[in-house]
Amino acid sequence: MNNRTLPETRVQNWIGGSRRTPSEGQVHLVSNPATGEQITEFHESTRAAVDEAVTAGSDAFDSWEDTPVEERIQPLFEFKQLLEEHQDDIAETVVREHGKTLDEARGEIRRGIENVEVACGIPSMMQGGHLQNAAPDIDETAVRKPLGVFAAVTPFNFPAMIPLWFLPYSVATGNAFVLKPSEKCPLTAQYLIELAVEAGFPDGVVQLLNGGADTVNALVEHPGIAGISFVGSTPVAEHIYESAAKHGKRVQAQGGAKNHVLVAASADLDFAAEQTVSSAFANTGQRCLANPVAVVEDDVYDAFAERVVDEAANMIIENGLGEDTDMGPLISEVHRENVLSYIDTGLEEGGKLLLDGRDSDLPSKGRFLGPTIFGDVDPDATIVDEEIFGPVLALVRAKDFDHALELVDRSDFGNASSLFTDRGSDAKRFRHEVDAGNLAVNAGTAAPMAFFHFGGRKASFFGDLHAQGEDMIHFYTDKSIYIERWLNTQ
Ligand code: NAD
Repeated sequence: MNNRTLPETRVQNWIGGSRRTPSEGQVHLVSNPATGEQITEFHESTRAAVDEAVTAGSDAFDSWEDTPVEERIQPLFEFKQLLEEHQDDIAETVVREHGKTLDEARGEIRRGIENVEVACGIPSMMQGGHLQNAAPDIDETAVRKPLGVFAAVTPFNFPAMIPLWFLPYSVATGNAFVLKPSEKCPLTAQYLIELAVEAGFPDGVVQLLNGGADTVNALVEHPGIAGISFVGSTPVAEHIYESAAKHGKRVQAQGGAKNHVLVAASADLDFAAEQTVSSAFANTGQRCLANPVAVVEDDVYDAFAERVVDEAANMIIENGLGEDTDMGPLISEVHRENVLSYIDTGLEEGGKLLLDGRDSDLPSKGRFLGPTIFGDVDPDATIVDEEIFGPVLALVRAKDFDHALELVDRSDFGNASSLFTDRGSDAKRFRHEVDAGNLAVNAGTAAPMAFFHFGGRKASFFGDLHAQGEDMIHFYTDKSIYIERWLNTQ
C-alpha cells in the first residue's frame, strides 16, 4: 500500500516534471502549532521560478488540450485511489503543520476527494450545445474550450481540501494548473501534488509553487496566466480581484467571513446548542463556515446560553493527534495574540464573559486557547462585526424573530448562516431574506457537497463563478460557436 518515500519536510516546487528547491527570496518558517517546534523552512519562489512554471504549463497545455477527454480523466481516477490509500498519512501531515484534530483532517480530505470524483464526470459536464436548423441551412454548435494555465492561491485553514476545489476541474477541462498553497501549511499541498504527479498527469499539467505574497503577485501579473482562483482573507481577496482584472485575467476570489446563527424560540435547544458549539469551535474557530455569532430570541436566550456554555466547557483541548481531542491550537503565536486582543476588545466594549478560554485547561506548550463565550453582546460590538477566526463565540439577544432576522442580515459578510427552528414559516423567511451564499436550517455548518458550488456573497466573495461543481467548468472554459452551412446537399 503506502510504501513511497516522500520528502517529508523539505519544501520543494514542482516545475515541469521535476522538483526544484528555491534558494533565494524571503524565508518562510513552518512550525507545529501544538508544540511550537519548527518543522521546516523554505524560500519564496522568485519571479523567475513563476516564469519557468508558466512556460512549462503553456508547453504542456498545447498537447493536453488536444488529449481526448476520456484520456484526460484517467489520471484523476488514479489520483482518487492514491488519495484514499494515503489519507491517514495526509491527515497526520495536516495535523502536524496546521494543528486541527485528526477527525477534522480526515473530514477535509474526504471533502477534497469528492471534488476529484465530480471532476471525473467532465466528459458529460463540459459538453456544449447543438441546434439543427438554427437558421436556413445552418446548424449551430456551442463548444467549451480550455484556456491555458490557471493558478490557485489557497489559505492555511483547509490545506488538503481547498486545493482540491480547483485542481481536478482545471486539469480535467484541459488546462494546466499551478498551485500556490499557504506558506503556513506547505507540506500537505506538497503531498497532494506528489500524488497527482504519481497519478500520471503529463509534465507541466500539475505544478506547485511555494511562497507568500511575492509569489502570488508574480502569478497574478504574469501574462501567461489565464485565470486565478483565490481563497483567503477579504483584504487580500479584494486585492487579487482588482489586480487580476487589471491584468486581464479571469478571477474568482473568496474572502473572509463572520457567519451568524439564528436560534428561534421554537428551536430544539439541546440540538441547537450542540450544533452551535461544534460550528463555532471546530477547527479552533478557523473555518470560513464557522458560526461565531449566535443571535437568540429573548424567550429562549438564557436557556440556550446555559446549554452552550455547558457543552463548550467540556471540550478537550489538546494536540490534534490525540483521538479524544475536541479542539487543537491556533495556527500561530501571532494569530493567537490577535485573537486574545479581540477578547480584550470584547471586554472593553462591555461584553460579559460566560466562558473564558484563557482559563481553560490548556497544554503548557503550543498556541492553545480554550473556547470563549461572550454573553449579551451589543450587536454593534467589534467582536460581532469583525472576523476573529478563533474560538470566540458572541451571543446576541434579539427581541423576537423579526429583530433576530434583521441582526443576522446586517453583517458585512455573506458567506453562510444557520437557523434553528421548528417552524416552516421561519425557515421560509430566513431563506428569502438573509443575503448569504450558504444557508442551513437545523444544521450548524452550511457546507455544500462538491457537486454544488461553494461561494459567499458581500465581503465574502469577489467575482461571479464560485468554487466546486458546475461553476468550475464555466470558470475553466470559454464557449465558442461553430456555424456550418453546406450548399447543394441533395
Ligand atoms: P490570507 O489571506 O492571509 O492568505 C491566503 C493566501 O493569500 C495565502 O496563500 C497567502 O500566501 C496569500 N497572501 C497573503 N497575503 C497576500 C498579499 N498581500 N498579496 C498576495 N497574496 C497574499 O488567508 P489565511 O490566513 O491563509 O486564511 C484565512 C482566511 O481565509 C480567513 O479570512 C477565512 O475566512 C478565509 N477563508 C475563506 C474561505 C471561503 O470559502 N470564503 C475558505 C477558507 C478560508
